[in-house]
Amino acid sequence: MGRHLDVVVIGGGQAGLAAGYHLRRLGLDFVVLDAQDAPGGAWQHTWDSLRLFSPAAHSSLPGRIMPPQPGAAYPDAAHVVDYLADYEQRYDLPVVRPVRVEAVHRHGDVLRLESTSGTWHARTVISATGTWRRPFVPAVPGRARFRGTQLHTVGHRRPADLAGRRVIVVGGGNSGAQVAADLAYGTALTWVTRRPPRFLADEIDGRALFDHATARRRALDEGRTDTGGVASLGDIVAVPPVREARDRGLLQARPMFARLTATGAEWADGTRAEADAIVWCTGFRPALSPLAPLGLRGPRGRIATAGTQALAEPRLHLLGYGDWTGPASATLVGVGRPAREAARAIAERLDVRRPAGT
Ligand code: FAD
Repeated sequence: MGRHLDVVVIGGGQAGLAAGYHLRRLGLDFVVLDAQDAPGGAWQHTWDSLRLFSPAAHSSLPGRIMPPQPGAAYPDAAHVVDYLADYEQRYDLPVVRPVRVEAVHRHGDVLRLESTSGTWHARTVISATGTWRRPFVPAVPGRARFRGTQLHTVGHRRPADLAGRRVIVVGGGNSGAQVAADLAYGTALTWVTRRPPRFLADEIDGRALFDHATARRRALDEGRTDTGGVASLGDIVAVPPVREARDRGLLQARPMFARLTATGAEWADGTRAEADAIVWCTGFRPALSPLAPLGLRGPRGRIATAGTQALAEPRLHLLGYGDWTGPASATLVGVGRPAREAARAIAERLDVRRPAGT
């Protein structure tokens, strides 16, 4: 028993919707299974003050420009949730939720998906499960001894939750800088980064990062000299709240501590900072556990791909996650191209004829 389709997309965040847009245009028979109760993917769960690092028009999925958010050059996460909810309705994407895919197995010619809504069979699977469900916290000596609160980025919602407390924010990327800026006013903040924070020039935002990533990929594809990753430009986009906190001198970072104690952090030179809470803004790993039965996992929890297609299982595509599945594919504007390429490759492999004009 079970339902049989050309394609099952796992995950109904931006990557899954971008895939759906192209699969629909190509006339494939597909469904998007999403574990959440509501549209919006990870954007439903970020902290209240998060700002996109590009203006709305430059944060758009294929086919539909994100409308501007009134009064905000850089939209917030709620605006993205509204946009994604509208997007799936506008294109009438067959998203079924809440359905969690628990395991993907090889099953003769097809892949079999076991889910909370039963069994599905698909000739091809696109995994677009994101990273939000796999927060990463580094192994730091003494971490288990610390008696205060420990949160990851995914657990931070608003400064009021930690008001008046001594807080250590760990992490020198965009999340670390935005969370530190968020907490800089109402808490006694210590910001800790592994290397000195590197702010991008104020006039550079996600648009420039995207252009840079695209140019780099083109150079690599054409065998020209590597222009360097976006990291060569800096780590932190100075969105307005970060810029303001930085300009007020509130974002003074300290180097990484050597260990945690029961009551705070201790550096190699013996200096200490007492703390009530630690917020780990230390990144994510791809959420690929449903694919475990396929036995494809390589280093850092990744699956080797050519573009989006898994090298060792051509019926599987991976979308989103990071640059290893396409330049900037874990961004709103960047996921469109790999989604189109994945859908085209699938249509070709399944020998599905495209409707005229696509
Ligand atoms: P998600 O949004 O995580 O969606 C995955 C969906 O799959 C979820 O709904 C999840 O519930 C579902 N799912 C997971 N596992 C299963 C399963 N087993 N079965 C069924 N469903 C499942 N990008 C930008 O373009 N601009 C920005 O300014 C920007 N800022 C960011 C700030 C932060 C703090 C972070 C963390 C990311 C930011 N990004 C930004 C990056 C990127 O846009 C997001 O990470 C984005 O949410 C990734 O989309 P996705 O669809 O790949 O994953």
